[in-house]
Amino acid sequence: MRDNALLGPAEIRELAERAGVRPTKTLGQNFVIDPNTIRRIIATAGVEPGETVLEVGPGLGSLTLGLLDAAERVVAVEIDPPLAEQLPETAARFRPGSAGRLDVVLSDALRVTELPAAPDALVANLPYNVAVPVLIHLLETFPTLKHGLVMVQDEVADRLAAGPGSKVYGVPSVKASWFAEVRKAGVIGTNVFWPAPKIRSGLVAFVRREEPLAQVDRRTLFDVVDAAFAQRRKTLRSALSGWAGSGAEAERILRRAGVDPGLRGERLSVEDFARIAAAADAPAEGSRG
Ligand code: SAM
Repeated sequence: MRDNALLGPAEIRELAERAGVRPTKTLGQNFVIDPNTIRRIIATAGVEPGETVLEVGPGLGSLTLGLLDAAERVVAVEIDPPLAEQLPETAARFRPGSAGRLDVVLSDALRVTELPAAPDALVANLPYNVAVPVLIHLLETFPTLKHGLVMVQDEVADRLAAGPGSKVYGVPSVKASWFAEVRKAGVIGTNVFWPAPKIRSGLVAFVRREEPLAQVDRRTLFDVVDAAFAQRRKTLRSALSGWAGSGAEAERILRRAGVDPGLRGERLSVEDFARIAAAADAPAEGSRG
């Protein structure tokens, strides 16, 4: 990475004023004001010089400038018009000559389906209220995304990286691990942001699986996962009865998948869930006469 200046508190305040932006909670606007945090994110993300990086929520550009130093190209998706509008000016001012390497897309990251370039990596300080759905949507929509590093609420970071049996293992853990190997990559304090959030943040790194874990319909799989955790304390037989149509049908599918119907969802790995989805989609025994 080239050793260029990054944005500190004074620059962030000035840029916010210039854009006429007052940070809002609704859009999860907490801007990084600490160059060392940006350096740490970039170093942990392992971005290669030839890569195209997707950044969600570039805000005032703290992370974008670091990414422009580390990557070939940055595609930044921002929902807030004044921030999206100002970003190219900020890049031109702090990184003269980077104009051809930055694309700013004014869009909701939850809905974006096309980008000006295929992204290799996702590096983002995600808006906290939509962090998990954004991550899952992007992994699903852009198969070229091979790896990434996202900053989320620390508690969400723990959930994303949890494995079966952990207290915080749940829907985000299983869905993320369907696409990628996920690990927690650090904790970030509150004072590196303006405004400072109440709770600390966590870094989550992921590397996409080269091969899918199983040949199953992803929607069926995610429906099973949603149903299994919607009633966390119930056994799978009971939790999946609505999804399967009845308790007896849920039991039949679970037995066919080789999963004990008396277990709870929190014990199952993503591979177990995939076997249940496959068993549900397979033709019923005897249906071929
Ligand atoms: N990357 C900047 C930084 O680190 O200082 C800002 C991060 S701030 C936590 C989240 C950013 O995401 C804000 O700029 C906010 O406007 C933007 N945002 C919120 N919801 C979004 C969405 N659905 N799609 C795209 N951007 C969104």
